[in-house]
Amino acid sequence: MVTTTSSARSSTMTALTTTATSYPQTHEKIECPGDAPYFINNEFHPSAATEFFEVHDPATNNLVTRVPLMTAAELQEVSIAFKFVELIKKNSARLAAAITLEQGKTLSDSHGDVLRGLQVAEAACSGPEYMKGEVLEVATNMETRTYREPLGVVAAICPFNFPAMIPLWCLPMAVITGNTFILKPSERTPGAAMILAQLAKEAGFPDGVLSIVHGTHDTVNFLLDSPEIKAISFVGSNRAGEYIFAKGSANGKRVQANLGAKNHAVVLPDSDKELFITSVIGAAFGAAGQRCMAISVLVMVGESSQWIRELVERSKAVCVNGGFEAGADIGPVISPESRKRVINLIDSAENEGAEILLDGRKCIPKGYPNGNWVGPTIIHQANTSMACYREEIFGPVLVVLSVDTLDEAIELVNSNDYGNGTVIFTQSGAMAEKYRRNIDAGQVGINVPIPVPLPMFSFTGNKKSIAGGGTSTFYGQPSINFYTQVKTVTSKWSEAKSQPSKANLSMPIQS
Ligand code: NAD
Repeated sequence: MVTTTSSARSSTMTALTTTATSYPQTHEKIECPGDAPYFINNEFHPSAATEFFEVHDPATNNLVTRVPLMTAAELQEVSIAFKFVELIKKNSARLAAAITLEQGKTLSDSHGDVLRGLQVAEAACSGPEYMKGEVLEVATNMETRTYREPLGVVAAICPFNFPAMIPLWCLPMAVITGNTFILKPSERTPGAAMILAQLAKEAGFPDGVLSIVHGTHDTVNFLLDSPEIKAISFVGSNRAGEYIFAKGSANGKRVQANLGAKNHAVVLPDSDKELFITSVIGAAFGAAGQRCMAISVLVMVGESSQWIRELVERSKAVCVNGGFEAGADIGPVISPESRKRVINLIDSAENEGAEILLDGRKCIPKGYPNGNWVGPTIIHQANTSMACYREEIFGPVLVVLSVDTLDEAIELVNSNDYGNGTVIFTQSGAMAEKYRRNIDAGQVGINVPIPVPLPMFSFTGNKKSIAGGGTSTFYGQPSINFYTQVKTVTSKWSEAKSQPSKANLSMPIQS
């Protein structure tokens, strides 16, 4: 929700309301929630914005903070400089708490969000290794050498679902390559980014290396239209990402954009049933299904379809509760609008003839009557023309289809528009190898759900899950390529002075 207030322009500094030892740990109402400041030249400032996006605790819908839709004058002020070092480990509990409060996921899941970002920050510490150029003596007294140079100013536009991990996919790699970095967190989950900014200052970032701006479409357009910004990293929906990729590219920027997903799990009858059931429950319902690598479709091959009843029974044990509550397995979805969308898609499946074997539509945990709750839901006997199959649901909903053979399963998965991740459960190396070889998805798990690669690899994607054909991917060596310009220098040094001769006008060849 966007609210409007009158506010005088202010140049005063402000501070975050949380510290390393003091931060929310329950869903109790915050009496006077502060507005999210913006961050420039290592200082937090209150925005003079008159419009704000309200951030609500998804478990209660109490107001947590307001994100300013920053004014054009403030956006112009952003200037940036160099380098990053991190203090994330020490503040991981605080970061996780900010995520649980604003995003809704459970505290242990929020710790995972921080940890997976921290891993990229740690990998970035080996920046000099990544930045090495190549050198070759190409002719007598002549060598060619490559240098990686920073692009200058780069920016990232982030989604709500991983408030720490996704900013950290970009920030460390961007700054160790010598760029300055502008971060636009999701207007729905700004808290972790603000803490990261404070940590960057504490850690000794020079002024201007990191800037954080807030807002929605106007702020994104500002970033896309600023000629000083040479590269844009985007993670989020197809609707926003396809626009950002097209406009950013047309404006001459490098753009990397990771988009939506519909990830399929394929289960063969020979698989380890226990591994399959626990993996699918975790990957389909964890984070209330709000992960781009969540398993949202299950393809049961042949006799494995007999396991559906057990999967349903075991899924009933998932504990839905406020993210700060002990024992909570999943929290609410991000907003009332998101809940409504998820419920509408479940309704549509029922109307189109599917069977709702597990129904989370009426789930309301005790003590949280106002939250955005959807319990684990299993839609059985779906088909590929149903809206629940075609659209990304982004809720704790598993759509189940059955086929007779692995070949049919491969064809079904490959026919889907998206190609982020997939997993096959089987005990057969030959079947797994056939799947690996023939499947069109960026990340393939073999008996491993949510196979998000560690930072020594890169987060790949195929088809509509990545813009521009996936030429540029987040973290790992490809992100070094993304954030740097290679300069190739050929030089000649000789002890002997050149003798007078006729200039050679042919294309030079070195020998
Ligand atoms: P979103 O696209 O709504 O928002 C992402 C960012 O874009 C936000 O910062 C938002 O302010 C901005 N934005 C939104 N609409 C815009 C528009 N029309 N024009 C310009 N800017 C706009 O995405 P979300 O709901 O925050 O995140 C969920 C989506 O992100 C899902 O589709 C999920 O699959 C995807 N996602 C993908 C990956 C991946 O690596 N493939 C990872 C995480 C999330």
